[in-house]
Amino acid sequence: CGIVAGVSGRDIVPVLVQGLQRLEYRGYDSCGVAVHSGGLKRARSVARVAELGQQVQTEGIASGTGIAHTRWATHGAPAVHNAHPHFSHGPGAASGSAGRVALVHNGIIENHDELRAALQARGYVFESQTDTEVIAHLIDSLYDGDVFAALQAAVKQLHGAYALAVFHKDEPHRVVGARAGSPLVLGVGAEGGEHFLASDAMALAGVTDQIVYLEEGDLVDLQMGRYWIADGEGRSLGAAQRPVRTVH
Ligand code: GLU
Repeated sequence: CGIVAGVSGRDIVPVLVQGLQRLEYRGYDSCGVAVHSGGLKRARSVARVAELGQQVQTEGIASGTGIAHTRWATHGAPAVHNAHPHFSHGPGAASGSAGRVALVHNGIIENHDELRAALQARGYVFESQTDTEVIAHLIDSLYDGDVFAALQAAVKQLHGAYALAVFHKDEPHRVVGARAGSPLVLGVGAEGGEHFLASDAMALAGVTDQIVYLEEGDLVDLQMGRYWIADGEGRSLGAAQRPVRTVH
C-alpha cells in the first residue's frame, strides 16, 4: 500500500515513520520498518504507525539505510508475520538466523505459487502467506554481490504489479527499487547526498521537494551522493528522460 525508503548519513528512521504517517490516510492493516544496522533489523506491527514509531524507539532501531511499509493485505491475513518488510535468510536457513535481503512491496505478484514452489525446492523456508515473500527469496537466490543486478534479474521473473524497495546485508549503504503497475518516486535530498524512494511524493513532504517520477519498468539504484535509473535491460535513463522536478 505505502512505501518509504532511503539512504542517508543521518538516522533515517524518523523520516520513514513520518512518511508512513503521511500515507496512513490511504488505509492499511499493518506496518513495518527494516534497517541496516550491523545486520538486518526490523519492527512490524498490526497497530497504528504511531505505535510502530514507539516500538522502533524502544528497540533502538536506527540507521542511515532503511525501508518502510504500510500493508493492505491481498495475500495472507493481516498479521505481524505477514507484515512487510520481508526478509530472506537464504536457503536452508532456520528462522531466527540472520537476514540477508530486506524487501517491501506494493501490488500483487500473480505467479507467486510457481515461484514459491521453485524456491522451496531449492531449500527456501517461507515464514508468511504473502505473495511478497517470494520476491525476497528470489532476489537472494540471484544475488552475487550486487543487489541491483539481482533485482534486475528477479523482476524478469515477476508477473503482476509491483513497486519494490530492497536492501542487502552485504551492501549497507544502498537501496534499490523497481516499479511496474504501482507508483514509485525518487526523492533527491537537500543536503549530504541522501536519497529516498516513496510510493507518493507526499510521503517526503518536508524532507525533499526534488522528485523524479519513475516510469513503468524503471529500476533505481540509490547510494549516498549518487543515484542511477535504468530500464529493464539496464540502459541508463538520464536527466533528459527522468528529470528532477520541484513539487509543491
Ligand atoms: N500483496 C502484498 C501483500 O499482501 C502487498 C499488499 C500491499 O500493496 O500493501 O502483502
